[in-house]
Amino acid sequence: MSSYDVVIIGGGPGGYNAAIRAGQLGLSVACVEGRETLGGTCLNVGCIPSKALLHASELYESAAGEEFAKLGIEVTPTLNLAQMMKQKGDSVAALTKGIEFLFRKYKAEWIRGWGRIAGPGKVIVTDAQGVETELQARDIIIATGSEPTPLPGVEIDNKRILDSTGALSLAEVPRHLVVIGAGVIGLELGSVWRRLGAKVTVVEYLDHVAHGTDLEAGKTLQRSLSRQGITFKLSSKVTTATTTDHGVNLSVEPAAGGEAELIEADYVLVSIGRRPFTKGLGLETVGLEVDKRGMLENKGHRTAAEHVWVIGDVTSGPMLAHKAEDEATVCLERIVGKAGEVNYNLIPNVIYTRPELASVGKTEEQLKADGRAYKIGKFPFSANSRSKVNHETDGFAKVLADERTDEILGVHLVGPSVSEMIAEFCVAMEFAASSEDIGLISHAHPTRSEALRQAAMSVIGLPTQS
Ligand SMILES: Cc1cc2nc3c(=O)[nH]c(=O)nc-3n(C[C@H](O)[C@H](O)[C@H](O)COP(=O)(O)OP(=O)(O)OC[C@H]3O[C@@H](n4cnc5c(N)ncnc54)[C@H](O)[C@@H]3O)c2cc1C
Repeated sequence: MSSYDVVIIGGGPGGYNAAIRAGQLGLSVACVEGRETLGGTCLNVGCIPSKALLHASELYESAAGEEFAKLGIEVTPTLNLAQMMKQKGDSVAALTKGIEFLFRKYKAEWIRGWGRIAGPGKVIVTDAQGVETELQARDIIIATGSEPTPLPGVEIDNKRILDSTGALSLAEVPRHLVVIGAGVIGLELGSVWRRLGAKVTVVEYLDHVAHGTDLEAGKTLQRSLSRQGITFKLSSKVTTATTTDHGVNLSVEPAAGGEAELIEADYVLVSIGRRPFTKGLGLETVGLEVDKRGMLENKGHRTAAEHVWVIGDVTSGPMLAHKAEDEATVCLERIVGKAGEVNYNLIPNVIYTRPELASVGKTEEQLKADGRAYKIGKFPFSANSRSKVNHETDGFAKVLADERTDEILGVHLVGPSVSEMIAEFCVAMEFAASSEDIGLISHAHPTRSEALRQAAMSVIGLPTQS
């Protein structure tokens, strides 16, 4: 039996960052992971492969469509989907190996197999051959992540009816892909396959896309994606899906009820959300229960059981890799008795479509619900010189600031490369900056980030470029 200061169950962004920080803090640490590689959902079947395909498909469309020709570059590209998938796999493999390297560097041990808690301070790991090993731990961290939420009546077989993992590795471009759910995963993967030539229809139960993001930003993104050719069926629900030899027949009804419409597709992506994963974890052996959403509650990353902690997708908060990472480091600092705090108000949220949508802080809808008086500064990318010369003018930068103090409360960006630029506002807001502060800071010309400064200047109605 091996004994550790900390045993972590799950090797995703929550688990692997916790293991690395534990090693850095001088603790003996083991991370139990049942997959063949470290990195969890994010590196293996989430953030990384989706961004690899978004990047490659964006370049393909630029070359195949009018964009290159408009720049005076005339080419006729051929899609080599197998190579596109291979380079995605190569990047994933390199990055998961990178985590193994970091484990060696910081003396974090990877225990291969599926772990279950077997009472206080005890974890049993079953490896691929069915051999069990018992581990003793002073502290246990649960970082078991999440899995796709199933949709009753639409059974995922990952042949014709896919979850996100299936949609990341199709061997052919669909003729017609129906995406159920207009959240971040649906919009990103719908974009990938549309760019590669598929007709894409997105069916969404709500009357808007990207639920939870600022409504105006979401609508602007939807308009851009519609112009690119994605069809949206909002306020609609898929009630049944029947697989045929060639595809799937879907029955789609208005969300409020009414006459059903039949839609034929050759592939369907079910992307209605993700749910916490705690199957076979032995929670009962330490007196823990999940709530009705399957989630493990925490207070400062502690569960109700002593010396059992929880981080990442399996507990409350946004299901994002960087949120899991933030919780991992803070959880470890707390285990060794140091102070640490995750600022949940400043976790950025990004949709990596084209244009991208990036936001941090409060939406207008949240500020209204809170009864908080605020001012708005907005600046369109069509008035930004760098975006203009690059022919990427869709979208805007919007800054929401407190009416009285001018403190920035929320920032919502739809436009080119905004996933990178949102960090400026994460830093500014962490230091309680005002919109005036951003307006007074020099931004290089010509850059897209000037649009952010102009939006901040617009809060007091004094943009210099519009
Ligand atoms: C298609 C897609 C795209 C995404 N894109 C982004 C993005 O761009 N940006 C972003 O921030 N987030 C993105 N996400 C979400 C992101 O992947 C998750 O928020 C993140 O991976 C959560 O990290 P985690 O460590 O909590 O869980 P996970 O990454 O899910 O890792 C949990 C790990 O625990 C293992 N495990 C579970 N139970 C056991 C057990 N009993 N024993 C041993 N091992 C176990 C699992 O095998 C898994 O590897 C995306 C997700 C998907 C599906």
